[in-house]
Amino acid sequence: MTFKDLGLSPALVKAVEEKGYTKPSPIQEKAIPHILEGKDILASAQTGTGKTAGFTLPVLQHLVATRHPKYRPLRVLVLTPTRELAAQVQDNVREYSKYVDIKSAVVFGGVNAKPQIASLRSGVDVLVATPGRLLDLHDRKALSFKRIEVLILDEADRMLDMGFVRDINKIISFMPAKRQNLMFSATFSNDIKKLASGILRNPVSVETAPQNSTAKKVTHKVYKVDKNKKTEFTIKLIKDGNWNQVLVFTRTKHGANKLTEKLIKAGISAAAIHGNKSQGARTKALKNFKDNSIKILVATDIAARGLDIPLLPHVVNFELPNVPEDYVHRIGRTGRAGAAGEAISLVCSEESEYQSEIEKVLKEKLPSTVVEGFEPTDTEPPKRAASQSKGSFGKKNKGSSSQGNKPKSKPHFKGNKPSEPSGRGRANTTKKKRY
Ligand code: AMP
Repeated sequence: MTFKDLGLSPALVKAVEEKGYTKPSPIQEKAIPHILEGKDILASAQTGTGKTAGFTLPVLQHLVATRHPKYRPLRVLVLTPTRELAAQVQDNVREYSKYVDIKSAVVFGGVNAKPQIASLRSGVDVLVATPGRLLDLHDRKALSFKRIEVLILDEADRMLDMGFVRDINKIISFMPAKRQNLMFSATFSNDIKKLASGILRNPVSVETAPQNSTAKKVTHKVYKVDKNKKTEFTIKLIKDGNWNQVLVFTRTKHGANKLTEKLIKAGISAAAIHGNKSQGARTKALKNFKDNSIKILVATDIAARGLDIPLLPHVVNFELPNVPEDYVHRIGRTGRAGAAGEAISLVCSEESEYQSEIEKVLKEKLPSTVVEGFEPTDTEPPKRAASQSKGSFGKKNKGSSSQGNKPKSKPHFKGNKPSEPSGRGRANTTKKKRY
């Protein structure tokens, strides 16, 4: 199967060939024909599968075929949960549309809105956006959704996690009812299915990996280690393994900063990427990591969403996420594009329940090891994972975690009910504390 066989025009085929793609990825092969037919789709696809080209190429083809000779209204909207993902998607759209007369732009918060407004005024066919800034710009009449023909929700699960559901519904309320809808998500909770059923019409389901599963070539490794030994242990892993490009996840922004400082002190080049960093600092850290001028990128879950870092050999969970699906997202950064990868987790006594919940989602046990000199001695009781209700959690651990006091009625959903968002584009307080 080639891109041409999928029915894509020579101008689009030329652009992807220049990117070095020799054949369509499985998600592209499955999704492109349906999208070209104008169907709604619900696709299960993690970052790294080529999903961006999967939706962009057929949509560009549609835009070119139906372009008005005089007007350039906004016809395609791609919504993403994070600024980084928005920027990355638009980079791809720009590259794929190199040989067609289609203009794209990106808008997200944290930067000056004026240049964004100016670029919208000059006429844009495809807009990639995060929901909060998009609504601000809409309120300021910098754009109109009246001519939207295709709506794409990228990483829809993460958008729900981040409390964007109300914004999404508001944005949709300004759009024509007749449009094509494409939804991409790495995981499928009941709430995602609910969101999908409210937006998509007779969607075709496109799946490339089993739901909630991790890429096949990823090896999981758990090191049981005391909480206060984790930094030392991470430094040892990096130095002993002579690792050159490692993404390390922490649960909190403060934790990311602290670890980064300690790594730098130990002579390991590192930078932190999280929600408190300015957009400029985030972009710079990512660029330095990608071009290997720093070895270690320490990130929180939200900041890491959508980062396009191909062929990352190691991902380290300095702390396990208390939301099991986040583990799936995190390790989606390794073993990409068919390459082998290693997902390493440092687990202290408090995190044993997080590990059990992750194992339930993965439907496999994570092999655990103890390293000489780092034998765990912690006796802190386990904290309850976000997916556990009080009843299913053996030891009640009063006051030991922000999640510990809030039983969740639905297993496997992260506690952010889409019907109760706390405001534009931000998670509820339980979630907020985590980043
Ligand atoms: P995505 O899942 O859209 O973030 O894409 C992940 C990576 O795969 C990006 O670096 C793309 O440039 C790359 N990619 C997308 N489609 C293909 C393809 N057909 N062949 C090889 N690489 C691809």
